[in-house]
Amino acid sequence: MKADLHLHTTASDGRLEPNEIVGLAAKVGLEVIAITDHDTVGGVAPALAAAQALPSLTVIPGVEINTDVPRGEVHVLGYFIDFTDRKLADNLLRLRDARQGRAQKMITKLSSLGVDIEWRRVEELAQGGSVCRPHVALALLEKGYVGSEKEAFDRYIGHDGPAYVDRMKLLPVEAVKLIIDAQGLPVLAHPADIDGLDELVPKLKAAGLVGIEVYYRDYGSDVIGRLLRIAEQYELVTTGGTDYHAFGDASEVMIGEALAPPQSVERLFALADKRSLELLKQH
Ligand SMILES: [Zn+2]
Ligand SMILES: [Zn+2]
Repeated sequence: MKADLHLHTTASDGRLEPNEIVGLAAKVGLEVIAITDHDTVGGVAPALAAAQALPSLTVIPGVEINTDVPRGEVHVLGYFIDFTDRKLADNLLRLRDARQGRAQKMITKLSSLGVDIEWRRVEELAQGGSVCRPHVALALLEKGYVGSEKEAFDRYIGHDGPAYVDRMKLLPVEAVKLIIDAQGLPVLAHPADIDGLDELVPKLKAAGLVGIEVYYRDYGSDVIGRLLRIAEQYELVTTGGTDYHAFGDASEVMIGEALAPPQSVERLFALADKRSLELLKQH
């Protein structure tokens, strides 16, 4: 079973429409994918609809919630989320609104540094999805202020950059709870660079974390080994995916090039089934 459980669409900062991601996934031979856009489930319904014509491909409804820690961000994935849940939609909308205000503040700061980009263009680059820092980076690149998106982060909008703006704070443990409240299975995303990972994991586990993303992009065997030990210690499902955005740059890891192990995917499906049974019994 080939499964890439971390994909973005135009609903957030991906460059492909949900139906295009589904088509591409089928083309590269994937059998299970998860649509995991930043702070939105807007891409899930169109992806599920597109996959109906493809019996060989299963789409897991998902989300990736961005949260804040003292130094940087922690992302929490939610799988098998009830994407029709009203409370989840409201909470995600609040997060996106906060992000939009943040991007506008960054543009103001940039302007005070003599770096002028237009809000309208940044919004356009987000293609109707939530406006994120990569869109600001792209606008800087377009105007020639930087030579790459990475340089935009290093020089301006990264955590220590002069145009960095803090966001509405959501703690990782709060994201785990949000996902559980919407019947989802919370999984810690790309954990290798998280400061204080060893302290964070037990806290999230206590809040209901079920998995950890071990096979991510081009994580090497050292990193994978370290994450596997953490997964074993806390009995977490070891997931994987590429975090594919279709950015189109040479360094991007292509969809389907990092996979979740088949037994982990089965474990996730089993946990989702078990939870649906429990929900049925409650009603
Ligand atoms: Zn992420
Ligand atoms: Zn992602």
